[in-house]
Amino acid sequence: MQPFDQNETIVKLNTCHMPKKLFWIALSLIITVFIVLTTLTIYFGIHSQTQTIVQYESFSISTTTRDYNETTISTESTTLPAPSRPVERIPTDLKPELYQWTIKPDLVAETFIGDLYYTFTCLESTNKLILHMLDLNTDNSTIAIVNSSSSSMPTFHSWFYDDYNQFMLMNFTSNFQPKTIYTVHIIYSATIDRDLEGLYLSDYVDVNGTSRTFLTSQMEPTYAQSALPCIDEPVRKAIFRIIVKHDPSYAVWTNGELEQSKTLIDGRINSYFAPTLSMSTFLLALIVAPKSDFACRHDRLLSSKNIKSRVCGRIQILPQLVYADEVAFKTLNFFNQYFDIDNALPKIEHFAVPDFGGGAMENYGKAYYFLFVGLLIYAEVGSLFDENTGSTSQQQYVTIIVAHEIVHQWFGNLVSPAWWDELWLKEGFANYMETVASDFIEPSWKQDELFVIEKIFSFMQADSMPTSRPISIDSTNPDDIFLMFDRITYDKGAAIIRMMNMFFSYNSATQQDLWRYLTEATNNTIDVERIMAGWTRQAGYPVVEVNRIFKRIDENIQQKRVNSVLIITHQPFNLFPSTAQQKIWWIPFKYFDRTSFELSNENPVIWLNTTSTHLSITTSDSDWIIANPNYYGIYRVKYDSQNFHQILTQLQTDLTRIPPIN
Ligand SMILES: [Zn+2]
Repeated sequence: MQPFDQNETIVKLNTCHMPKKLFWIALSLIITVFIVLTTLTIYFGIHSQTQTIVQYESFSISTTTRDYNETTISTESTTLPAPSRPVERIPTDLKPELYQWTIKPDLVAETFIGDLYYTFTCLESTNKLILHMLDLNTDNSTIAIVNSSSSSMPTFHSWFYDDYNQFMLMNFTSNFQPKTIYTVHIIYSATIDRDLEGLYLSDYVDVNGTSRTFLTSQMEPTYAQSALPCIDEPVRKAIFRIIVKHDPSYAVWTNGELEQSKTLIDGRINSYFAPTLSMSTFLLALIVAPKSDFACRHDRLLSSKNIKSRVCGRIQILPQLVYADEVAFKTLNFFNQYFDIDNALPKIEHFAVPDFGGGAMENYGKAYYFLFVGLLIYAEVGSLFDENTGSTSQQQYVTIIVAHEIVHQWFGNLVSPAWWDELWLKEGFANYMETVASDFIEPSWKQDELFVIEKIFSFMQADSMPTSRPISIDSTNPDDIFLMFDRITYDKGAAIIRMMNMFFSYNSATQQDLWRYLTEATNNTIDVERIMAGWTRQAGYPVVEVNRIFKRIDENIQQKRVNSVLIITHQPFNLFPSTAQQKIWWIPFKYFDRTSFELSNENPVIWLNTTSTHLSITTSDSDWIIANPNYYGIYRVKYDSQNFHQILTQLQTDLTRIPPIN
């Protein structure tokens, strides 16, 4: 058993690799850039005092390696199929406000009944109400407008199903009126499968060896529409008020905190949950599980922020969740200070979901992670750590996973991508910040150094294939979206965030300095959007060739100080011949030599954007030059043979003169 300390850990931030101010600069810039490119939704102000942060996420992990990817994409392929006809977006004439969603699951019959009161505001007059829906059964008789903020009460006429767009199109006999709020009532039913999508059943074996079932969910990216009719687009946020009718022997976990429970005449219970704040549908989550088999460890209070943290799961595995509990608490404390946002999270729960037994799960070879309103749910295999038998890599894995999920409490909610083509923003950011948190939890693991091997090198191979894809793509049909959960999104995304942090850090005490610097550095000819578009809108990455022109020792000018020259060129790095158009990247290039490394002198960033750059340097001919310190830039480097041999000689004589990352 791991010692269990209920007292708050005092967080020291001096292990941070990235000063907080710079983090915000980077974050601000990311936001600015992608407001232009897409339409990022500022979810709420960073100084919000009272809002609850809502989060959900799915994870899958390979049970045989330490690698993991969220959802079920393969770890190597980055190839997307030929784009299919784009799905239509739901018109914005009606704005979603509230889903009051009552669900009555029947785990024996493997069905559920949904009872939805959907409230929306009319922005532009229309007689059509469109919601996403998948595999739900309803009929005309149960659809009606039941409330209106004016005398306007359009009467339901008919509906039909658009199979391609997964739209439920409802027609009304008169128009909805602008600035009026309406509530439509829809009753529906559905079966519950074991398909790991939307609401689904999960099997486990209880303490007596009996096979049992519980209900759980995975809504990301577009499975919420199989749980309730809704606008299943990340940017179309609304409040959820969830009511679950269930057997008294079951407990419920969902978005929001349990407000009250009422026993009904039939002996069942209605559990009422507090309204969430306005959130994306993919954040919706629900677990209904036997009380006898599932429980939580006790709360730990982060008193400075008044946030509770706890872990939950099957009763018999709770002792093995001690480490996850510890890490969750430390990480929550760390990020609360790191991001310095006064935000009252009421609770964060970490829920370990048992792995699936039987053939279905073996076929997938995956286990799933979910995350709720402050309730982060994990596959047991990724969250258990036994102090007596667990390995360090398991410990690191738990740390990384927990940190990744907790950072989404800030990023992914503070700023949400408008659509799935910008998925990499939240995932790249979380994938980078998990490293920062892990370095805080256990500096000796040197996750910052492992970042290069485990994240940069892992995507670079796939990204040098002709089949690779840009990190941000336009094809966003549900089937394509699912394939975006890959190394390009996660690892290249993290590398881009890390690279941006490097070049924004340079001499940028304030955001104004940053913009001025960027403007000067690019002679007013390019903006940040264009700089980043090279990295996000095209596949691949460059190889930078560094050729030194060594000094010619001339008797006449021997006493003068003569600088030598670097000729720097770059081109796309391809493992195979490519017919793709020549690509342009704006590359933030840095280098160091032995002298500058020893003196900790930082050379400035040089922007490479033409095919050849000549750079005057003061490095002695006998000294080596290494480009890309700490591997912040996303590029490979090819040196001339003399410099290359100088590096080799240094490594053979005293390798401590070169930082391990390089
Ligand atoms: Zn994530």
